[in-house]
Amino acid sequence: MKREPLVMIPGPTPVAEPVLNAMRTQTYGHTYSGFVKIYKECIAGLKQIFQADAVVAVGGAGTLSMEMGLINVAKPGDDVLMISQGYFGDRYPQVAKAYGINADVLSADPGQRVPLADIEAKLKAKKYAAMALTHVDTSSGTLADLPGVAELARKHGVLFILDGVCASAAIDENMQDYGIDVIVTTCQKAFATPPGMTIVALSNRAIERRESLGGIPAYYCDIKNWLPIMDNPGLYFATPPVNHVVALNESIKMILAEGLLARYARHERIGAAFRAGTKAIGLKPITAPEAVAPTLSVITYPEGIDDAAFRAGLEDNGVFCAGGVGSLRGKVFRIGHMGSIGWPELALTMTALELTLAGLGHEFVPGAGTGAMEAAWK
Ligand code: PMP
Repeated sequence: MKREPLVMIPGPTPVAEPVLNAMRTQTYGHTYSGFVKIYKECIAGLKQIFQADAVVAVGGAGTLSMEMGLINVAKPGDDVLMISQGYFGDRYPQVAKAYGINADVLSADPGQRVPLADIEAKLKAKKYAAMALTHVDTSSGTLADLPGVAELARKHGVLFILDGVCASAAIDENMQDYGIDVIVTTCQKAFATPPGMTIVALSNRAIERRESLGGIPAYYCDIKNWLPIMDNPGLYFATPPVNHVVALNESIKMILAEGLLARYARHERIGAAFRAGTKAIGLKPITAPEAVAPTLSVITYPEGIDDAAFRAGLEDNGVFCAGGVGSLRGKVFRIGHMGSIGWPELALTMTALELTLAGLGHEFVPGAGTGAMEAAWK
């Protein structure tokens, strides 16, 4: 019997039944009172998760949130500091360039973090309009040192943008605690809803910055057009993706019912168990030990294992994973373990990994991965 493989890429991630069911509702009129209530609840939930002063959540992808998050706080000709720890960190300077914003980029090798001392040296040398950091770079599985970088942002008073796409709702991003001004994110990873929502969380300082910029080269992306709608979704600016808002709201209800701290701890547990399992069958993450993320694993292919053959084999064994992107194409595979993922998905993934690797001639003790993962899970 042929079944669709389990989706274990780092986004989109599997969507829980209650969220799918909520989405199946007849499409509401976007200014209908019943929908307005849902949209309000959704924005309030996002504000709670991020401890944000305001949130804009509209139709679009994560890349749109990066664009929206940047151009509302920096204008053409401004200097911004961008810390790149992978392919998505490298994307942000391209967004800046498209708007004539000058990006000074600090990069690290795949799987490594940019040293805090290098960041501080840059912040001392120049006054930046903003600094941007990717919380988890999905290409290399690199978890940023958010506490360390946030402390530098506070110390130097620089407006701080965080790309939370591969971390939001799985790792703490409390804007008040860290002093984050803008979180740019989306819904198809740890929020575990189908792709379609752009989410930008803002501090009052970010909103004041937007005010001080005057006109900006944007219309749909101008938060000034959206903030009144987020306060009162009964007003119209542009038609929201109604069913996606319903889905996201349902997912947020599940997230808040799980409890944020419990959810973050669940992701830590899942990440640690999966790493224990993969280690036991001789697989190594490309990511430095201090920077491994709880939301995904990026694993270097063992000698002799071909990327295409491995991924096709894994799919035959019931699991769909992602290959490498950018400079890591063909060298690594990526398994997402965030959102609604739990033990059943981990167990199937580990079994499929073992079957696939054994079939391709990789040597290890059969069952070692599952055993080590079980031990770590307990
Ligand atoms: N930032 C990060 C860290 C990402 O992982 C991604 C997508 N994988 C993006 C930004 C862009 O998001 P999207 O593909 O939804 O535009």
